[in-house]
Amino acid sequence: MRNTVTPRERLEKIVTDGMCIGCGLCASLAGRDRISMETVQTGYQRPVALVPLNHELVDRIYDVCPATRLESLPTHLQGEGFAIDPVWGPISSMVRAHAADETTRIKAASGGVLTALAKFLLDQSEVAFIYHARQSEDDLTFGVPHISRTAADVAHGTSSIYGPTPILEIMSDVLDIGEPFAFIGKPCDISAVRNLARYDPRVDRLVKICMTPVCGGIVPPPQMNDFLAQRQTDRDNLTRFAYRGDMCPGDTEFETRDGHKHTANFFEPYGGIEETSWQLPFRCKVCPDGPGEAADISAGDIWPNDVPDWETADEDKGSNAVLVRSAVGRKLFDAAVEAGVIVIEEDVSPRYYDTCQHHHVKKKQYMRPRYDALLEAGRTVPRTAGLRLDTFAADLDDETYHWQKSGTLSRLQSGKADELAPKARWDRKSND
Ligand SMILES: Cc1cc2nc3c(=O)[nH]c(=O)nc-3n(C[C@H](O)[C@H](O)[C@H](O)COP(=O)(O)OP(=O)(O)OC[C@H]3O[C@@H](n4cnc5c(N)ncnc54)[C@H](O)[C@@H]3O)c2cc1C
Ligand code: SF4
Ligand code: SF4
Repeated sequence: MRNTVTPRERLEKIVTDGMCIGCGLCASLAGRDRISMETVQTGYQRPVALVPLNHELVDRIYDVCPATRLESLPTHLQGEGFAIDPVWGPISSMVRAHAADETTRIKAASGGVLTALAKFLLDQSEVAFIYHARQSEDDLTFGVPHISRTAADVAHGTSSIYGPTPILEIMSDVLDIGEPFAFIGKPCDISAVRNLARYDPRVDRLVKICMTPVCGGIVPPPQMNDFLAQRQTDRDNLTRFAYRGDMCPGDTEFETRDGHKHTANFFEPYGGIEETSWQLPFRCKVCPDGPGEAADISAGDIWPNDVPDWETADEDKGSNAVLVRSAVGRKLFDAAVEAGVIVIEEDVSPRYYDTCQHHHVKKKQYMRPRYDALLEAGRTVPRTAGLRLDTFAADLDDETYHWQKSGTLSRLQSGKADELAPKARWDRKSND
C-alpha cells in the first residue's frame, strides 16, 4: 500500500472505510498544525491533513489509532485473582453500585460511579487532575476534552455525551503538563491511550488510571439532525441540550432560542426506543470492545432485558454495573467503598449482565465474521489481541457465520459504510 498511495490517502482510508471514530489521537500525535480535527461535510469530526504527511508518521498513526488496533487490558496491568470472562473481559469483580452522594447519583448518567471515583481521586490527591469530556459550547450535541482540577469541575462534566467527542486531540498537550492524572474516555479512547503507551513512556508514568463507560455507540450527526428536525428545530437553535436528564435514565432534554423546552425518551436521539431503530456509525457496528476491556474500571447501565423499567424510571436514582478489572482499579474501588464514597448494592454475575446488554454480547459473537467481510472487501480491519473474537467465531454455526459475513459484505457493497474523504482546508477554500 505504501508504494501506491500517498501518506495522506492512507490516513483518509481510515475515514473513507467508515472506521474513524473521531478520537483525535492522530492530530495530537502529528501536531495540530499538521492534522486538525474538523467538522467535515458529513457532520462528523474527522482528521484533516493541513500539510503533506510522511509515511513514518502515518505508520505510527496506524499503530495507535483505535480504528486499526484494539487490545484487551495489557497483561502487566492485570491483578491477582481476576478472571477473563468471555464476553466482558478481565474482571476482578463485578457489582451493582452507586455514588453515595445523592446529587452526584441523580445528576450522573447512571449511578454516578465514574464521577464519584474521579472526585475521590482528587480528594485523596492521588492525581492532579481528571482528563475527561464535557459538553461543547460550540455544538451542544458534541463533547470536547476537558481537564478538571476540582470536584466542582468534575461535576460539571458529569453524565453521558452520546455525540462525537475528539477527546484525544489534546493528549500530547496534557502529557506535556507532566502531572499525574486520571483519564475517563470511551472504550475506543482507552484503547488508543494504551496503544500510545507503547511509544510514549509518559503515558504509563502519568496516566494513573483509565476509566470508561460501557459503550454501545454514538449518535451519528445526520441522525441527530433528523431527531431535531422532527421536533422543528436544528442544532444552531439549541440553547441547552442534555442527552440524559436527572434520575435514571432521565429524559433527553433541550431548549430552543424561542424558550421552548422539549423532552424525549433518551433512546430517541439514536432513532427510537427499539434497538432495531437505532442508528449508529459503521465503526460502532463493528466495535469489538464496547465493554472497555483495556480500562482499569468500566461502568455501564444495568437494566434487565436491556431497557429501563419505564414504570419506575421517574423514581430511579440510578445504579451502575461496575466492572473492576486491573490491580489499580481494584485498589481505587476498594478505597472508595471503604471511604463510603461508593455504595455496593449487590454482586452481579457476568451471565446476568449478559441479559442486561444483549447488544454487547451479540457484537462479541458476530465480530469475526464481520471482520472477515471487511478483509475480503479490502477494507480497514482493526488488529485485535486478547478480545477472544476467534473463540466466539468457533462457536458459531455455519449459517450464522455466513449470515453475519454476507450481511456486512452487502452493507459494504451498497456503500452504507463509505464515508466521504474529509476535505482539507485548501480544498475547501477552492470550493468556497
Ligand atoms: C457514547 C456512549 C454510549 C454508551 N452506551 C452504553 C451502552 O450501550 N450500555 C451501557 O450500559 N452503558 C452505555 N453507556 C454508559 C452510560 O451512559 C454511563 O456513561 C455509564 O453507565 C457511567 O455512568 P456514571 O453515572 O458512572 O457516569 P457519570 O458519573 O455521569 O460520568 C460520566 C463520565 O464520562 C465522561 N464522558 C461522558 N461522555 C463521554 C464521551 N462521549 N467521551 C468521553 N468521555 C465521556 C464524562 O466526562 C464523565 O466524566 C454509554 C456511554 C456513552 C458516552
Ligand atoms: S480514530 Fe482517532 S486516531 Fe484514528 S483516524 Fe480517527 S481521529 Fe485519527
Ligand atoms: S461503540 Fe466502540 S467505537 Fe463506537 S464509540 Fe463506543 S467504544 Fe468507540
